[in-house]
Formats: sequence, C-alpha cells, structure tokens
Amino acid sequence: MALKQEKDPAFVKFKGIEKQFGKVVAVKKMDLEIPEGSLVTLLGPSGCGKTTLLRILAGLESPTQGDIYIKGKRMNDIPIHKRNLGMIFQNYALFPHKTIFDNVAFGLKYRNISKSVIKEKVEKALETIRLAEVGNRMPSQLSGGQQQRIALARAIVIEPDVLLMDEPLSALDENLREDMRREIDNLQQALGVTTIFVTHDQREALSMSDKVVVMKDGFIQQEGNPEEVYNNSVNHFVADFLGHSNFINSIVKEETGEYLSVTLEDNNTCLVVPAEAFNKGDKAEIVIRAQKFTLGYKTDHVPEQGMNVFFGKIVDRSYMGGEVSYFVELDNKLVLHVINFVKRSPYRRGDEVFMEVKPEHCRLLRI
Ligand code: ATP
Repeated sequence: MALKQEKDPAFVKFKGIEKQFGKVVAVKKMDLEIPEGSLVTLLGPSGCGKTTLLRILAGLESPTQGDIYIKGKRMNDIPIHKRNLGMIFQNYALFPHKTIFDNVAFGLKYRNISKSVIKEKVEKALETIRLAEVGNRMPSQLSGGQQQRIALARAIVIEPDVLLMDEPLSALDENLREDMRREIDNLQQALGVTTIFVTHDQREALSMSDKVVVMKDGFIQQEGNPEEVYNNSVNHFVADFLGHSNFINSIVKEETGEYLSVTLEDNNTCLVVPAEAFNKGDKAEIVIRAQKFTLGYKTDHVPEQGMNVFFGKIVDRSYMGGEVSYFVELDNKLVLHVINFVKRSPYRRGDEVFMEVKPEHCRLLRI
C-alpha cells in the first residue's frame, strides 16, 4: 500500500528576510512559511513590501539579509530561470509579436523538450484555461481578460513548483475581475500548485486564500485563514484594513461571566470579548464589524439581557444593491457604520434607531 504523502507545511520558507533600498527598508526581518498546495495572499497597502517579497522569491531582487527556501532547498544563489516558478503580473506581459501558442510555449523552449511534447503541453494548458482555439492568434486579437488567461496558461505550462501572482486582476474591470478570481481559484485547486498572490484588495484576499498574510511597513501584522484574520483581527490596523470596522474607546471595568464589561465615553457599558489579557482601568478599543449590528426603529426596541445596544439617528444612507450602508450618530456624536442585508431596508436619514450587537461580536483591542 502506498503511503499517503504528507504536505510540506514549509514548502516555501522566508527566514529572517530583510530588504533595504538605500535608506528604505522595504521588508523587515520577515519569517513566513507557505504550505504546499496552498494559496496564500500577501495583503497590504501600497508600499508595505509585498511586491518586494515576491520579487525576492522570484530571484528578481536579492535579500539584504536572510534566506529563502523552496522544498527545503536554499534559493538565494539559484538564478531565476532555475527556480521553476510561474509568474503573472498586472500587465499581462505577453510578447506582442509572437502568436498565443508561442507565448505559452516560451518557458518550455529552454527545457530540452521535443517539439511534439511542447505542442501537447501548450494545447493542454490552453484547454485548461478554456481557450483551446486561440493558439494561432496574436495577443492584440484577444480581450484583456483573455490575455490574462493566456498569461496564466504560460505560467502553468512549465508545471511550476510555485505560482507567483502580483496584482494579476487589477487591470481588469469589476465583472472580469470576479470571473478571473474564480478562474484562478478553481485552477489553483485543480492543479494543487502552491500559489502566492499579492493584492491590496481585501475582498480578493478573503475570498480566495487558504491563508492571508496582512502586511504593513515591511512587517507581517497577522497571518491566518480568512475567517481568523477577519473575525479575530489582532490590532487596529488589521481590523481597519479588512474593512467596515467601528472602533469605540472604552475603559475596562470588570469580568462578567465569559465576557469583560467595559465603560464607554458616555458612561454606558458594553460586554466584549478581550483579544488579550486586560486589567481593570486599562484603556482599550472595541471593534465591531458594520455587518454585525441588528438595526430597528428606536420605538420598537425591546431590551434583551446580555445584548449590547446603542441608540442614535441615521445621518447617511447608501443603497449598495444587495445591502444598505448606514451611518448612525449617537447622542455623544460618535458615528457608527451599520450594514443591513435585509431585502428592503426601510430606514431613512433622520430616523431614530437602535443598533443591537452580541458581545461575541465586540472584540476588545489594546490601544
Ligand atoms: P504596491 O502595492 O504599491 O506595489 P508594495 O506593497 O508591493 O506596494 P513594494 O513595491 O514592495 O510595496 O515597496 C516597498 C517599499 O520599498 C516602498 O517604500 C518602495 O518605495 C520601496 N522600493 C521598492 N522597490 C524599490 C527600488 N527598486 N528602489 C528603491 N526603493 C524601492
């Protein structure tokens, strides 16, 4: 009986990686392990170092310090063409004067493979991305989305150990982005190829990753699966960057059963889940996602034990298609963001409302 092959949890490994450009330290003492077969996104704002990290792995930059490993082998001194990586960038970077077939075949030509095998592999790659019929065309005869799929075919045809993608969807319009995101996701799962995907788009990262690595100023802020980083953000930056968070200043009062009780600026109290250990009197901030509130008319509110409740007036309302986004001003002038998903959300600007939220959706972070 064949033994089941365990997946390598550190298929790609960055160990103490640092990269300096003159005075700018783009990546700072970075340790990161990428499991075999997974899709990992490097997520962060412009300038946080994600492209630099990818370029170091690709061999396009050398690290100032630290080591990189693929399949346990140190890569620092291995030239780019010997690293067996597939790469896709924002601009498709197809050769304009070569046919689609020749574009896809490009990476195979230097591999000592017979013409007939090259033909077979290219045809298979084009079939995989559902563009089997375009081999004879030139890149200019394809749409932007199709060109990006050709770039994908060119990257996978060499059967890379790791697929690197740097903002591959950012040149596409919203609908195409969605299609392409699913295409990449399905292809990655079907091929099982270890993939590192750079993006500054949190929705993209959350929707397709096995693991999200949130970066800022050259440091990893948090890594984990999408639910972990979204629901259990470890700090203000991560909670804010992943979208639609409310932050409310508070002071720790006491433990109340499984929750902590905190006092807000207007002397109201709130039950929360602490992200770490707190002492009485500590200043902290509560993070509440805009989607976690239940909204209703103030006059309809029925107090329920153990629920956190806020009262205020709607000061802004935007209909977003599937949801309605509200901004509600509390008596103490604090404005909370609420996203309501019900089919017809009747509330209007000026309405007096209550917002209710369970303690488990109120996370307490150190300031
Ligand atoms: P973006 O999303 O805008 O591409 P990023 O997170 O990928 O940003 P990097 O491109 O890795 O960020 O850049 C990180 C930092 O390093 C930035 O401050 C950038 O200006 C700097 N940097 C990157 N490449 C170079 C270079 N070749 N020379 C000098 N500084 C550089």
